[in-house]
Amino acid sequence: MLLTRPAPGPPLAESLTPSCAKLLAQIGVLDAINRAGFVRSTGHTVRWGTDAERVERFADGGLGWQLSRADLDKVLLREAKAAGALVHRHASVRAVTAIPRGGSRISYEERGRVRHIDAPWVIDCTGRSGIMSRSGSARAPTGPRTIAIVGTWERRPHWHLADESHTHVESYPGGWAWSVPLSRTRRQVTVMLDPSRTDVARGSRLRLTYKEELARTTMIRDMTERAKFLGSPWARDASPYESAGSVRGRGRDRVLVAGDAASFVDPLSSYGVKKAMASAWLAAIVVHSALVDPAIEGPALEFFAARERAMVAGLRRQLDVLAREAASAHPAGYWDARGGSDVLETASDPDVAALRTDARVQAAFAAIRATPTLVLRRVWNVKREPRPVVRDDRVVLADHLIVPAFPDGIRYIRSVDLTVLAEVAPAHQDVPALFDAYNAAAPAVSIEDFLGALAVAVGKGILEIGG
Ligand SMILES: Cc1cc2nc3c(=O)[nH]c(=O)nc-3n(C[C@H](O)[C@H](O)[C@H](O)COP(=O)(O)OP(=O)(O)OC[C@H]3O[C@@H](n4cnc5c(N)ncnc54)[C@H](O)[C@@H]3O)c2cc1C
Repeated sequence: MLLTRPAPGPPLAESLTPSCAKLLAQIGVLDAINRAGFVRSTGHTVRWGTDAERVERFADGGLGWQLSRADLDKVLLREAKAAGALVHRHASVRAVTAIPRGGSRISYEERGRVRHIDAPWVIDCTGRSGIMSRSGSARAPTGPRTIAIVGTWERRPHWHLADESHTHVESYPGGWAWSVPLSRTRRQVTVMLDPSRTDVARGSRLRLTYKEELARTTMIRDMTERAKFLGSPWARDASPYESAGSVRGRGRDRVLVAGDAASFVDPLSSYGVKKAMASAWLAAIVVHSALVDPAIEGPALEFFAARERAMVAGLRRQLDVLAREAASAHPAGYWDARGGSDVLETASDPDVAALRTDARVQAAFAAIRATPTLVLRRVWNVKREPRPVVRDDRVVLADHLIVPAFPDGIRYIRSVDLTVLAEVAPAHQDVPALFDAYNAAAPAVSIEDFLGALAVAVGKGILEIGG
């Protein structure tokens, strides 16, 4: 049963990167989203921390989506209904309270009437307004406050940009700005400011702040100078936070908190929607798993909490790089408190980008390439312990390898199953033979992913090169 109400205020224009496609397909909504007629983007045009404009195309010709959040919600709700969910589109949840025999009572208002329903499991997806964080668990800011001021602009017959499907993004001393296309003629243009540094007020003063800030940009200002401003600007809180203790099931009341209700990462990441969908997807899998196999409930809830932490940590790592770049170009003002923030470390999630530049992994890669006959041995003290993983639509326990570099265990890297790799490696004396043997024993992977995983296995003490 899905209880929701129309989101308040005008809808945001949001960018979804091509990397969302896999998740959308997994949820079963990719075709519907592709049929919805959203603008398909080929990348970003960026002016970030320098005066130079940089065109960043998505890898391998991938296409993202530029969409109005209200239109995306329509598609998602339609698909949820078609998949069998009981959808209440005008239900305002007022309270979620634990009931003594387990589960929760949800009280909601629908067309003027208060109703109640008891549910063994609840997934809270109420976004920033956060019904669960309102009823107890604290929400902590994870960075300086940010406010988004948003306006819609029109230029006919089109915008005369090198690539009109692109999100245009620019940093400037007072913050950053972006422009996202909603159609051939309309774009939403947003400035992100620190409200404690900028005098932001309502009404005509908001319009003035918006125009003043746009005037301080370069690329975005040029875009709007020949365009027509439609309506009035409006503001949205975009400050980052985490809701403490709410990312896991809370004992017998069994509530999972997903998406913005759990945490908000700076919109610069462009991953808010993907993060929300990924956590709701995993929450649904956790609930399903616990319903069909009560014994998996504890490990599945811990897995959910760990995945949420890892996802937020990964996004914050990426953001930190962008913030540092901007902070070095605009040392005072908005950016001075944003580069070099505390970045969460999570042991359970291998950071593939960091591993690629890891000295031991690079040395292992060089050694593998330099050795014509590859004799690999399993490192003797690698332990195997069961840890949760997602298989199809279930959380199940599967063996992980425990080594000092991955104390929480590791099973997959770049889709390569390291337990299979460790089994087959000693029996083959060169990389092509080992690659073929691996692909015969496990779902096939590309040679790039295979070599990357092999280098990690050798560099991080799972396999060693013999004489
Ligand atoms: C300025 C700005 C720009 C952004 N740009 C991007 C972008 O380009 N790309 C991107 O991926 N992300 C972007 N984000 C982030 C993105 O908007 C969010 O991360 C994402 O929408 C989170 O989805 P959600 O479903 O968790 O929450 P929400 O989108 O907030 O959805 C919550 C839903 O719950 C409903 N609801 C709330 N309370 C109740 C209640 N009590 N009863 C019933 N229903 C309720 C609301 O009506 C709403 O429909 C941006 C955010 C901001 C602020």
